[in-house]
Amino acid sequence: MVTNKTFTMLKPDSVENGNIGAILEKITSSGFRIVAMKLTQLTTADAKAFYAVHNERPFFDDLVEYMTRGPIVAAILEKDNAVQDFRTLIGATNPSEAAEGTIRNMFAESISQNAVHGSDSDINAAIEAAFHFSEREMF
Ligand code: GDP
Repeated sequence: MVTNKTFTMLKPDSVENGNIGAILEKITSSGFRIVAMKLTQLTTADAKAFYAVHNERPFFDDLVEYMTRGPIVAAILEKDNAVQDFRTLIGATNPSEAAEGTIRNMFAESISQNAVHGSDSDINAAIEAAFHFSEREMF
């Protein structure tokens, strides 16, 4: 099933570096509508569950530590072709490989501290949105 929604997190480095406003401006000026949003903080259990697909990877513990160390902004975004267009807007996982003008190119520090999350499929967008938001928080 193809939907027009994706899920994002502005990760702790984005919040720490004062980049919430600039990143949201980039997102909305690229045609995404914010349909849900909150400032929140992941627990260790939340981060382990959210990134369970990576639990065998050598960077898993560092990833959990990073994602839980401070607040994040979680949001659901709407646009035609949302998942794919948002992945294009954020750029490659490693900011040194992210195209000029992408969010990771502009705001990310490293492959591990890469500023933003974007869902990689429609099914994961729906799962990740439901992980953070109830129906009554989506507009
Ligand atoms: P994404 O979909 O572009 O976020 O990338 P992945 O799903 O492959 O990885 C999830 C997250 O794990 C990334 O956004 C990074 O924060 C982190 N990560 C991915 N690869 C590495 C790595 O090689 N080293 C470290 N330290 N972190 C990584």
